[in-house]
Amino acid sequence: MNNDCPFCDPEVVNIAFAEGSGFYAVYNHAPVVTGHCLVIPFKHTTDLLDLDSREYTDFFAFAREVVVFLNGYYSTSEFDMSIQQGENAGQSVAHLHMHILPRKANDLPEGEEWFHKLNEDEFTSLDSTKFLSDEELQSISRKLRAAWQSGLDKKQ
Ligand SMILES: [Zn+2]
Repeated sequence: MNNDCPFCDPEVVNIAFAEGSGFYAVYNHAPVVTGHCLVIPFKHTTDLLDLDSREYTDFFAFAREVVVFLNGYYSTSEFDMSIQQGENAGQSVAHLHMHILPRKANDLPEGEEWFHKLNEDEFTSLDSTKFLSDEELQSISRKLRAAWQSGLDKKQ
């Protein structure tokens, strides 16, 4: 827990639509494409390599569940997964997170690549006009949470 960290902020944790052991998934406040989500450890760590092998396995296992869920929810089988490790790799929030972007034909203007847009689209760019309003974000999160939960119910 780090008081200055957006991904340790209870307000962000509270809009999570899914939780795995040690990790949560949220809809990105500034989605690059529809369905752009983040998978984040509850524990404050900057570095992927600080995870022990159990946490590392849990992280990717949970990310896989989130990908499968998002593919179903957004009706696609294509996606990007990305971890930006360190400032020079484009990490702008110093709390480990993985971007998951369900992809479809023509979901970005021709010639644009999503990874160019990540730096400008983190939680820190609060003045960005591309930011979803709190109401929009909460509404999407509620729908995703209900769908995630009904998927879990079906499995039981
Ligand atoms: Zn943090």
